[in-house]
Amino acid sequence: MSGTTITTDILIIGGGPAGMAAAVAASESGRRVTIVDDNPRLGGQIWRAELGKNGSPDANKLLAALAERRIDLINNAQIFGTDRDRSLLAETGAGTITLGYNKLIVATGARERFLAFPGWTLPGVFGAGGLQALVKGGFDVSGKRILVAGTGPLLLVVAEYLRSKGAQIAAIVEQAPVSKIIRFGLGLWNAPAKLAQGLELRSRLAGIPYPKGSWIKSVRKTGEMLTAAISKGGRERQFECEYVACGFHLVPNIELPSLLGCSIVQGFVSVDEYQRSSIPTILAAGEPTGIGGVEAALIEGKIAGFASTDETRKAEALFAKRDRTSRFAESLKATFALRNELLTLAEAETFVCRCEDVTFGVLKDFNSWREAKLQTRCGMGPCQGRVCGAACEFLFKWHVDSVRPPIFPVKLENL
Ligand SMILES: Cc1cc2nc3c(=O)[nH]c(=O)nc-3n(C[C@H](O)[C@H](O)[C@H](O)COP(=O)(O)OP(=O)(O)OC[C@H]3O[C@@H](n4cnc5c(N)ncnc54)[C@H](O)[C@@H]3O)c2cc1C
Repeated sequence: MSGTTITTDILIIGGGPAGMAAAVAASESGRRVTIVDDNPRLGGQIWRAELGKNGSPDANKLLAALAERRIDLINNAQIFGTDRDRSLLAETGAGTITLGYNKLIVATGARERFLAFPGWTLPGVFGAGGLQALVKGGFDVSGKRILVAGTGPLLLVVAEYLRSKGAQIAAIVEQAPVSKIIRFGLGLWNAPAKLAQGLELRSRLAGIPYPKGSWIKSVRKTGEMLTAAISKGGRERQFECEYVACGFHLVPNIELPSLLGCSIVQGFVSVDEYQRSSIPTILAAGEPTGIGGVEAALIEGKIAGFASTDETRKAEALFAKRDRTSRFAESLKATFALRNELLTLAEAETFVCRCEDVTFGVLKDFNSWREAKLQTRCGMGPCQGRVCGAACEFLFKWHVDSVRPPIFPVKLENL
């Protein structure tokens, strides 16, 4: 396969809800549509290995539509760069392939935000969505006591999932204040499906402590167990557990559109109402344009799919629905904004860049991400700043702007 060139009309990067919806919509035109994803299966973060098995009507509808259409799927392929106009490079198990396109839809999703606190790099401390992904892949948590902490609705989703797999949830520690959570809940009155979903989730988690305005301060290893210190109402509380699942909302994966020169505004790909980026041949859908959840990803994917094949009427018919999901994204952003107290968690010897072992004490003497990278190698390890970049943006208010090819580590022989 190495050295292969594949040419397609509509190339979609990302096989999550946004990419799948975009593919189905674009294929209505009869044009050649190709989805590329770095996982072995479609489904993205929410469905993953459980795609088609977990009873989600949205997922099942998309799977059926994908099966009916002529859509090419390239799994286990990671886009890492570009070699010329309208052409991307992907690393696969069998070497590098080149993908040519007329229109590109970027649907690369998001990742979790991690913040540095003492103990966050200990074995047993996971990203919340990361632990959920491991369990979806077969990792056994039955009988394990798990503390879920951080911020955002993903915490509840993960806690419920882990509980359904036999874990005992010690608590769900949410840093957003109770007043904001109440306002967020009241704001859902005009999104009845979401409200019902939220209430059902809460009822399944009944009895599990869910302190708001509370945050994780540190984790330390005590024998076989972990002890997590939580700040709650000015007091410290300790929780003993086997695992900590911790995530501070999501960060969009915008490395590819940044590399291709798309305009990025406040950390997201800037798109017009048709999901078109500042580059006429590139559209974007789902989390890279705003963290809005699965409904937003699906509707934006559809609009991008129709717009990429000039089916503007069909795209326009979906604008009102998309605008409602955009309002939800705005309210997520306001509700789960990180509080200033989290700026004080890292101690001098706390690692911020875990790939290159760079501590908070070393980083705080620099003035910019670029300067810190040059002097300390912060952000230059295998994760290429995907973890510490977002932490530094929050901790030091640095502008993390240096995207260079390859955007993922690639074997030398494939470069
Ligand atoms: C770890 C995690 C777990 C989550 N779990 C849930 C959950 O259980 N329930 C829920 O409601 N929401 C969950 N979310 C939020 C969920 O991702 C969104 O609500 C929404 O589904 C996003 O859809 P999307 O299509 O925009 O992105 P995604 O579903 O993230 O799909 C993007 C896809 O693009 C692929 N990709 C990215 N870059 C490249 C590249 N360079 N080359 C090839 N492929 C690439 C990714 O691997 C991924 O498969 C989770 C988010 C994260 C980060």
